[in-house]
Amino acid sequence: MPQPCECPDCGNPRALMHDCQHCGSQAIPILLGDTIEFNLKRGSPSAEEALDRLTHYLWRASDVGVKAILLIHGYGASGQGGKIKWAVHEALENNYFSDRVDEFYFGEDVAYGSDSYHVLLRRRPSLKTHLKLFKEGNAGMSVLLLGNNT
Ligand SMILES: [Zn+2]
Repeated sequence: MPQPCECPDCGNPRALMHDCQHCGSQAIPILLGDTIEFNLKRGSPSAEEALDRLTHYLWRASDVGVKAILLIHGYGASGQGGKIKWAVHEALENNYFSDRVDEFYFGEDVAYGSDSYHVLLRRRPSLKTHLKLFKEGNAGMSVLLLGNNT
């Protein structure tokens, strides 16, 4: 998938959380869209590491003006990797991220054409291309709307 950000110094595509791989710039990247996909499973972190990573990601994302995050946390299968989903669900339900996250929708509740689907599209039309892939719901992902929504 294309990088959602651009380097303010050299203009090349850039990841949100890393220094520029082209010029080494550490400046905050320029956001190209308002919706961003974040794979929390990358690198197989523990549930604790994953929550920590998500916390930092949410800070950065809301600083640069991201409005919606498609969070990939896996299906919650048994085993180490499966714990990430339940840790994320629990943290969201306990308002652990409420300083940044305004609303959240678990992927299993966002079937194509459902009420939540329409609510989300009204709030963030840019989610359309992502939500199409949810079909009957996608238990491996959640949608977070950040508090800087206007
Ligand atoms: Zn650069």
